Amino acid sequence: MSVAKLRSRQSEITHEVIESVMHLTEQRDELTLLRSLQHSILEMLPGVQIAMVCLASDPDGHWVTDTACPMPTPMFPVSDGLMAEIVSLESEKLIGQCDDAGQVYLIGSLGAHDDRRKAIMIRQPKWNDADLRIAHGMLNIYANFARVLFDSERDTLTGLYNRKKLEQKLGEMLVGRMRGKNRQRDGNTTDYLAVFDIDHFKRINDNYGHLMGDEVLLIFAGLVRNTLRDVDWVFRYGGEEFVALVKGVPPETISLILERVRSAVQDHAFPQVGQVTVSIGFTAIAEQTLPPYVFEEADKALYYAKEQGRNRIFDYRELVASGALARDEHLSGSIELF
Ligand code: GH3
Ligand code: MG
Ligand code: MG
Repeated sequence: MSVAKLRSRQSEITHEVIESVMHLTEQRDELTLLRSLQHSILEMLPGVQIAMVCLASDPDGHWVTDTACPMPTPMFPVSDGLMAEIVSLESEKLIGQCDDAGQVYLIGSLGAHDDRRKAIMIRQPKWNDADLRIAHGMLNIYANFARVLFDSERDTLTGLYNRKKLEQKLGEMLVGRMRGKNRQRDGNTTDYLAVFDIDHFKRINDNYGHLMGDEVLLIFAGLVRNTLRDVDWVFRYGGEEFVALVKGVPPETISLILERVRSAVQDHAFPQVGQVTVSIGFTAIAEQTLPPYVFEEADKALYYAKEQGRNRIFDYRELVASGALARDEHLSGSIELF
C-alpha cells in the first residue's frame, strides 16, 4: 500500500472511532448504550460476532440467564462453558480470553455484583494485535463511560437508585401510559408508587450516633430491595425516605407485598439498635399527569400513617374514598387524560 493510501485509511479509521465514541457517549440508558457498543464494535471489526448476557445466581447459588434484565439479541448461543468463564471473570479484571470449537472468544465484563454478572463475548476464528487493541479500547471506553453515567444515578451510601433516577423513571412511565403502552398489561394489573419512611429515625441517630444511623439505612435498604421483586425499582429519595415503583400487580396484591416489607423491617434485629419500624404510603400510578403529583399522593398517605401511630400502611385512594383524606383538586381524579 502506498504511503498516501495508508494515510487515507488511517484517517478513515480515526474518523470511524470518533464517530463511534460520539454515538456511544450520547446514550443515556443501559440497553441503548449496549446496543450502541455492539454496533460500534461490529463497524470497526466487521468479522466478529457478539453476544451479551446477564447472569444472576438463583437461591441455590446456580448461575442462570436473567430474563428480567434486557440485553441486545445475541448473535450466537452462549454455551455452559462460556457461562462458567463469565462467572469466574473477576470484576476488576475487565477482559479474558478463551478458545472453543475453532473460535477465540474475548470476554469483557459489563458489570459484576455479588449476585449478577453482565458480560460481552466477541468471537472470531483468529485475533490479530490490531483487532485486539480496538476491542480492548472500545470495552475500556464503555466501562469508563458506564461508571460515570451509572454512578450519577445511584445513592452513594446504599447503592440504590437516587431521586434523580426516580424522576426520570416515573416520567418515562407516565409518558408510556400516555402513549397507551403499559395500559392494561394483562387486564387487571396496575403500577404503584410507595413511599417508605423509617419511624423515629432521629432518635436512632441521637441514641446510637450518626454512624449507627447510616448502618440502619444500609440494612433497611437491603431489606426493601430483597423483599421486592427484581422487576420493581427501589430508590433512596433522601435521608430516611425511600420510594419503590412496584409494577404490574393486581390491586388486591399490593397491600400484601408492602406488608411483607413492613413486617420484614419490624422482625429484623438491627445490630445494637434492635427493632426499627417503617411507615408506608402508596398510590396507584394512574391518571396523574406529572411525577410530583404521584409522589404527593403517596406522601399524603404516609403522613396519615405517621398520624395513626406509625408502623402502618395506607393507600391514598382508599383514604380519599373513605373520606379520611380530602381529595386534592390538582391531584388525580380531577382530569381524566388517558
Ligand atoms: P418520623 O417517625 O416522624 O419519621 O420521625 P423521624 O425522626 O424519622 O423523622 P425526622 O424527619 O424528624 O428525622 C429524620 C432524621 O434523619 C433527621 C436527619 O438528621 C436524619 N438523616 C438524614 N439523612 C441521614 C443520613 O444519611 N444518615 C444519618 N445517620 N441520618 C440521616
Ligand atoms: Mg422523613
Ligand atoms: Mg422518619
